[in-house]
Amino acid sequence: MSSRAANCPSCGGEVLFHAGSSVVTVCPQCRSAVSRKGARLESLGTVAELVPTSSPFRVGATGKPKAQGLKPFRIVGRLQLSTGEGTWDEWHVSFEDGRYGWLAEAQGTFWVMRPLAPPSNPPAPDFTQIALGQRLDFGAYGHFTVTDRRQALYASAEGDLPFAAVPGSVFMYADLSGADGSLATLDYGDDPGVDAFFVGRQVQLDDLGVEGLEGWSQRKVSAKASSLNCPACGAGLQLKDPANTVRVACTYCGSVLATPEGGASAEKFEVLARLQKVPFKPLLPLGGEGTLRGLSYAILGAVLKACTVDGVNYYWREYLLKETKSEAYHWLVESNGHWTLVAGIAAGEVSTAPRLAVWRGTRYRHFQSTTARVEAVLGEFYWEVKKGETTDVSDYIAPPRILSEEKYEKEVTWSEGSYVPKEEVEKAFSLKAPLPAPEGVGSNQPWPYAESSRGFMRMLGLFAGIAVFLFVFFNIKADRKVVYQMRHDLTVAANDPTLSPDAASEALTVVSEPFEIPHSGNIEAMIDAPTDNTWVYVGAVLLEEATGQAYGFGLQSDYYHGVDGGESWSEGSRSRTVYVGHVPAGRYVLRLEPEMEKGKAPPYYDLRLRSGVPRMSHLLIVLFLLLFGPIALGISKARFEGRRWAESDYSGGSGGGGGGSDDDE
Ligand SMILES: [Zn+2]
Ligand SMILES: [Zn+2]
Repeated sequence: MSSRAANCPSCGGEVLFHAGSSVVTVCPQCRSAVSRKGARLESLGTVAELVPTSSPFRVGATGKPKAQGLKPFRIVGRLQLSTGEGTWDEWHVSFEDGRYGWLAEAQGTFWVMRPLAPPSNPPAPDFTQIALGQRLDFGAYGHFTVTDRRQALYASAEGDLPFAAVPGSVFMYADLSGADGSLATLDYGDDPGVDAFFVGRQVQLDDLGVEGLEGWSQRKVSAKASSLNCPACGAGLQLKDPANTVRVACTYCGSVLATPEGGASAEKFEVLARLQKVPFKPLLPLGGEGTLRGLSYAILGAVLKACTVDGVNYYWREYLLKETKSEAYHWLVESNGHWTLVAGIAAGEVSTAPRLAVWRGTRYRHFQSTTARVEAVLGEFYWEVKKGETTDVSDYIAPPRILSEEKYEKEVTWSEGSYVPKEEVEKAFSLKAPLPAPEGVGSNQPWPYAESSRGFMRMLGLFAGIAVFLFVFFNIKADRKVVYQMRHDLTVAANDPTLSPDAASEALTVVSEPFEIPHSGNIEAMIDAPTDNTWVYVGAVLLEEATGQAYGFGLQSDYYHGVDGGESWSEGSRSRTVYVGHVPAGRYVLRLEPEMEKGKAPPYYDLRLRSGVPRMSHLLIVLFLLLFGPIALGISKARFEGRRWAESDYSGGSGGGGGGSDDDE
């Protein structure tokens, strides 16, 4: 690192350029931004006083990163930027290898951004061409989604900066979210052409190995709690997130307060809107704490939101949560008594197609798009939440999950959430009174029987398996025994022209010798006759000798064939089988009475009886009965889905719409 001393062109005092990347240094004596061009020094103007921020870093601190691929560094400068919505720092770091980067903080997450040659093939769009939500293909750099498009004021600086600009000038920039979870920035400076391109990745503060984070630990201590008295009603308020809170809506009178620059600990609040009573009653205790799905949360604030569809207002509530360990902000959204736990995700990781969004391999179907507006707020917020502010929201669902895009004027964000049964919310925050019962079907509510139906289906599968097994088992074990087998001649009587059909039939009727059926059960009876364009029907009766119990059945053999219009055809069957059920064991005789077409009888018919034959149809009946369960479940699920989608953009006419529906019903 090259430290070069020089004299300030404004005050003559000593200025020091600490790094090779230092183009400007702020004179510690007179606050001139001194630029160097070769050996020539020039004052670009005077920077304003720094505004205190809650950043853990300071100029001069060094870091020995544990994070892979990061060289040891020194913080050589600080750039303070502001928009109408807040002030933040970006820290100019000089790495051991002579390269430089920026260290930035965004809502509790830390990023190291390093300069790369601006995309050239294809080139990055100008500031006037770039649009929120736009997807950019930067070739070798990958794919990016535009999440922010803003202008910020170069308000102040300290130490060295890697660029020359006039203090007080306005910078244009666009933030991009990479498909791989990275972050990128297109810096346009004060004109629409791209000046610089930075790509960064998230780092854990601990992994940066920055020495002396006293300011940070102080902030952590002061962040534990901070109390103030509402300047509107005098009530005592406890802040859970004072280091980041910029807006407080008094939970006693509803008045909206602006916290002073530099965090709530400075304790100079200004009343932005004076209210006499709280605008709505949150269902969760603001300031309360609890553990939900393994994460511990403090409830910071609540936002009442609404959208209007066909002139009807729909309301829902969003509770801002702070995860105490990671300091990440999450949301619990309540609509019609349905709860969803939501967290922000990288926009670049989402890809969309018509009616579809994909995130980390899960496909979410488009559910609805609405314009949400802030109706009222209570509690504390890390951004300047405004009543009446609107957002274009698009929801995509894969129950129990939901994916949402929120488009603001200068920013687009994506979040992902999961349905939480109200009982889980009650338990998480130890609520004394039960939460209201959910109404209707929630947009991402899972079908309530999904879990139990899986168990039910597993059980049905088991039953079906057992049925098949038993059938196969008995089929193998079955004592298939031929109890009767005989060929009955038909030629003589059947073709005797002197006999009437009835007389012929009577002449051919036979009663068998007695035979044994050894086991109770099914009897399989089979006929087989050489019928050829004719038929024979045999009426049969099984007669139990001891009891006289009779079991009647009929058997038919018929076979027709021919050629019709060049096509040969055939129908019927020479051999057929029937089953006689529940025949007790015993001694039987068989009476057989054949009928046939006069003069066209087949020469004979064979008849065979077997006992102990399992019937396939029994198995099929069992399997069919087992199907009723899944069919009923399928109908239930279809009706549930119908009710869900009736509230979506695809309801086919009738109303539907927003997240909640307090007004109708
Ligand atoms: Zn000076
Ligand atoms: Zn108050």
